[in-house]
Amino acid sequence: MDRRLVLIGPPGTGKGTQAQMLSEEWKIPHISTGSLLREAVESGSELGGVVEQYMRSGELVPDNIMLDVVKERLSHNDVSGGFILDGFPRTIEQAEGLDRTGIDIDRVVYIYVDEDEIIRRLLSRYECPKCGYIKGAENNKEDVCPKCGVKLVRRADDDIDIIKKRLKVYREQTEPLLDHYKDRGIVLEVDGNGTVEEVFRRIEKGLIDEDKHQE
Ligand code: ADP
Ligand code: ZN
Repeated sequence: MDRRLVLIGPPGTGKGTQAQMLSEEWKIPHISTGSLLREAVESGSELGGVVEQYMRSGELVPDNIMLDVVKERLSHNDVSGGFILDGFPRTIEQAEGLDRTGIDIDRVVYIYVDEDEIIRRLLSRYECPKCGYIKGAENNKEDVCPKCGVKLVRRADDDIDIIKKRLKVYREQTEPLLDHYKDRGIVLEVDGNGTVEEVFRRIEKGLIDEDKHQE
């Protein structure tokens, strides 16, 4: 079964958490462009210097830079059995650039949640600065990463004005992308309300049902 997946949805729908869970279950890499860029910023690399300002203000990093970052990542051997792309593509140009690499995407999982709930979630989100582990809203007491033992922190762009900006950018630039993939009949729509486990079961069930359909 080929597993080249893309997760699309507004910020705060739980894409990162779901991608992490799918990656553990299927033993294929979770590629989060947001995490790749945050690592670049922290390491002080040249790329980090270029992207920092865009990220800080909730703007998208230019498409040509993103395509280079993703192409480089997809050239590693560990993606041969599949991968989960989280946060890319985010514009039509990025999707077309990905198409031009000849790498076929099997499924696009679209996770939707209303904006009020998104804002509530992002304002209470804590994550591990080292591995990207995200604390669920239900785990109120946890303050260190269960994997790395470092203190969980709020993300700099999880600020109300920047969240609103990210939602607007999502609506204007990323949402139209769904049609690009709907035309191919590969989009699975998943309700992102409910617990992490509930959403995970919906995704798995949706993907399995579609596989049965195609046999
Ligand atoms: P979220 O989905 O919660 O907004 P991410 O962690 O996916 O956050 O991304 C954080 C920031 O990194 C974005 O606001 C944007 O500046 C940048 N970024 C990540 N992926 C892309 C992409 N594919 N294209 C352009 N910018 C990106
Ligand atoms: Zn960690």
